[in-house]
Amino acid sequence: MKVLIVASECFPVVKVGGLGDVIGSLPKALKKAGLDVRIVIPGYQKILHTWCESQAQHHTGCGGEDKSRDFVIHYAGEAQKVILHQTVLPETDIPLYLIENEKYISSGGIYMDPSAFASSQEEIERFAFFSKAVVGLFVAREDVFFPDIVHCNDWHTGIISQLIKSEARYLELNRPATIFTIHNLANQGISSTDVVNKLDGEILSKSPYIKWDTADNNLDFIMQGILGSDVVTTVSPSYAEEIKTQEFGEGLNEVIKAKEARVFGVLNGIDKDVFNPKTDQYLKVNYSPEDLEAVLKGKSANKKLLQQELSLQEKSVPMIGLVSRLTNQKGIDIFVSSVDEMISMGFQIVILGTGDKAIENRIVSKMSEPELSGNCAGIIKFDEGVARRVYAAADFFAVPSRFEPCGLTQMIAMRYGAVPIVRAVGGLKDTVKEGETGFLFEGFNQSEFLSVIKRAKRVYDDKNLWGKIVGNCIAEDFSWDKSAQEYILLYAKALAFAQ
Ligand code: ADP
Repeated sequence: MKVLIVASECFPVVKVGGLGDVIGSLPKALKKAGLDVRIVIPGYQKILHTWCESQAQHHTGCGGEDKSRDFVIHYAGEAQKVILHQTVLPETDIPLYLIENEKYISSGGIYMDPSAFASSQEEIERFAFFSKAVVGLFVAREDVFFPDIVHCNDWHTGIISQLIKSEARYLELNRPATIFTIHNLANQGISSTDVVNKLDGEILSKSPYIKWDTADNNLDFIMQGILGSDVVTTVSPSYAEEIKTQEFGEGLNEVIKAKEARVFGVLNGIDKDVFNPKTDQYLKVNYSPEDLEAVLKGKSANKKLLQQELSLQEKSVPMIGLVSRLTNQKGIDIFVSSVDEMISMGFQIVILGTGDKAIENRIVSKMSEPELSGNCAGIIKFDEGVARRVYAAADFFAVPSRFEPCGLTQMIAMRYGAVPIVRAVGGLKDTVKEGETGFLFEGFNQSEFLSVIKRAKRVYDDKNLWGKIVGNCIAEDFSWDKSAQEYILLYAKALAFAQ
């Protein structure tokens, strides 16, 4: 089975959040299971520099030899040249295509808004163009790769299933089957309707889904992905149920319910080679995640080092870490409002994040209060190294999200022996077991949050119980193998639906 995975991020080439981790790791498990899997992402300016130019292959493709396969697509009434670079996902032989186009893709940052939420029409056009170029990749350059399955991810790729269906040749020939994974339903990519004409008005506007969607004068990219794809998945079983409700459905709950026979929840995994405290190059003190004694010792050494790195008081107190994109979704407000109480309970607190300016400012102003000095650190940046050191140093890891499609940080935390404290929503409640591998709170309010913190502290203070719970966390297996098998079954289903 030949699978093309299409996304806006892929670790370690480009990562803003969990989407990048997933696209950098799921393909490895699919490949291990015997699939011919390839990945395509935009050739952002930043990565063309680091992944192509550093190897002196600009315009000749990454990889040392001339693998450039330029082609032309029509967008907004103009012929646009697309430069296709081919490299591999690092440390694998999985082909990774980067699509370069100066006007639409390869200038500016990764996302236009630091919170990674679709913000401007310019951003939407970037991904509309990218989507058309991806379809061009196997229509115009069938010799490069012709997939059986096109696996699209999030709003950035939502229009691809419609573009495939509107491609004239697929009216007669078998088209690739499409599967669309929702990583975050809140970020929908709502566009003005001119994008339909820019893509291909004559054909696309005949699509009943596009007609229906544009009746209210906008086009919702994620809804197009849901309506147009043969199979729809989301990243945890609980979120697959939640998005059918008004509370979590982001206005699309009825659309999802209408398609529910084709909507499945497949839990994300993590790459246990990337997230491995035994080999993690960002740590000065490595430790084996297989052995509880080693974990407790290793974490204590890492805590000391992080305290030094962040100018925290060097003392043996429980540390709570939080590493997150800073958006309303993540519930940072409830956490920051509880900082005084947590400090008075004897915790040290480390927050690492970047995103929404108002949340960043709130963290900076709270963390710089003189009476908290030495016990709190707020680091406002994206830094893979600091993130790993927080996972390794922290005793607890907080994820107080309003909603959480899956969440990877709680799984990474467990792998590093940090016990998660999470809200009982979405993938968080699918991965954390109350009192066994972490602590959960139900209602999104400060009093429930503080009461779970108190419960967690009582367990921390009982060294036997504490050892047990850390031991349970490191014994969890969040590798991709099982979920990859579920995807393979769904690919087969999509192929059957596409016939
Ligand atoms: P989301 O995809 O909603 O951002 P996830 O929990 O699925 O959340 O994944 C977040 C990923 O991004 C994790 O690998 C986490 O370590 C990483 N991450 C988030 N913020 C930062 C940051 N400021 N610096 C480094 N890594 C970060």
